[in-house]
Amino acid sequence: MDRDFFDNAFDKAKNAFEVAYKKTGEVLSAEKIKFNISSLKSKREKAYAKLGKSFFEGLGETVALNDQDKAVYDEIVELNTKIEDLTNELNFVKSNRLCPSCGAVIDENAVFCSKCGEKITFDSSEND
Ligand SMILES: [Zn+2]
Repeated sequence: MDRDFFDNAFDKAKNAFEVAYKKTGEVLSAEKIKFNISSLKSKREKAYAKLGKSFFEGLGETVALNDQDKAVYDEIVELNTKIEDLTNELNFVKSNRLCPSCGAVIDENAVFCSKCGEKITFDSSEND
């Protein structure tokens, strides 16, 4: 990084300060500035993530990645698989009633578990 970078960064900070000062007529407190910085950083994290997602989706497996990127790529693929599995499991659990005692899948209208004989009492308040 050359000298100009720091000069520019300093000018930007100075300008930002002047803009903030003109706007509110007062100097922002350190807490307020910290808050603004962290909210901008969290927006930036989301933007990074978005960029990464677009990049990932455009990749396919044909592009040669360096080892570090390949590891992240593989991690995302693995996470996607796990999320898909869990989503399927969730759908299964939601669309089937399971015995609260033994966990067996039971008929929708069953009053007793066909496996262990447990009386099935569901409240339906759990629906989304
Ligand atoms: Zn049972």
